[in-house]
Amino acid sequence: MEQDKIMRCITSDGSLMAMAIDSGNIVHTAQCIHHTSPVATAALGRFLTAASMMGAMLKKRDAVVTLKINGKGPLGTVTAISDSFGNCRGSVGNPGCEMPNRANGKLDVGGAVGTNGMLAVIRDLGQGDPYISQTEIVSGELAEDITAYYAKSEQIPTVCALGVLLDKEDHKVLLAGGLLIQALPGADDAILERLEQNVAVLEPVTTMLAKGFTVEEICRKALQGFEVEVLDQFDVGYACPCNKERLERALVSLGPEEIVKLADESGIMEATCQYCGRRYTFTQDELDSLAKSLS
Ligand SMILES: [Zn+2]
Repeated sequence: MEQDKIMRCITSDGSLMAMAIDSGNIVHTAQCIHHTSPVATAALGRFLTAASMMGAMLKKRDAVVTLKINGKGPLGTVTAISDSFGNCRGSVGNPGCEMPNRANGKLDVGGAVGTNGMLAVIRDLGQGDPYISQTEIVSGELAEDITAYYAKSEQIPTVCALGVLLDKEDHKVLLAGGLLIQALPGADDAILERLEQNVAVLEPVTTMLAKGFTVEEICRKALQGFEVEVLDQFDVGYACPCNKERLERALVSLGPEEIVKLADESGIMEATCQYCGRRYTFTQDELDSLAKSLS
């Protein structure tokens, strides 16, 4: 599977961090796994793009960030999960969701997600309880909601841009990408003002990608007027760490009495991973011994 690219930059004065991702392959993979409608592709794609960047910001190796949003719209819950290397996976409640386009011809992601609910950001640092924080949905367009999350929950001035461009005819993913800029403790008002001026004239990420911009050029464009240092660049992709043992551990919570009843009349239980579509089968013998190990 082809990998995408993510880059992190910092201004030399230590006031701003910028991260850009070209997430076309991730979003295309999600579209193939989940058979998403155009608006569901855009929503899940934007969310995966954001999760990958937010995952890449986690400082612990085995940390995981989960984004969940449900605004009571027809799309249902959208989930995106990323590890600390930016490798991500996701799912959407109603992948076939169809919505009329907005008046400007754009996909109505906000309408599909809805605005009556919360955006949850769950950080699991691999030790103890995960940190959960929730903010009210602003528009359901996702980039704005993530900006609002950082402002309200973490008091960090943040610029977030997310884009997914689909082919007008066959709705396949043409381009996808994102940009996340955060003020670091050294940022004063003058710096934030200059950043605001940059952002005001910044083209959409997919427009820059369409012009052939690399992730580095996107970061430099967003930080125009600042001296920029590249922190790192790495490959990211759609990845699901599921396996039969993990699924077994999930089954344990049902309790032995339920576990032995899971198989169908042919003596097989089939389960499909909601993130990658991989299928797993358990025989009645396997279920019996799993139940026995618990009692
Ligand atoms: Zn999976």
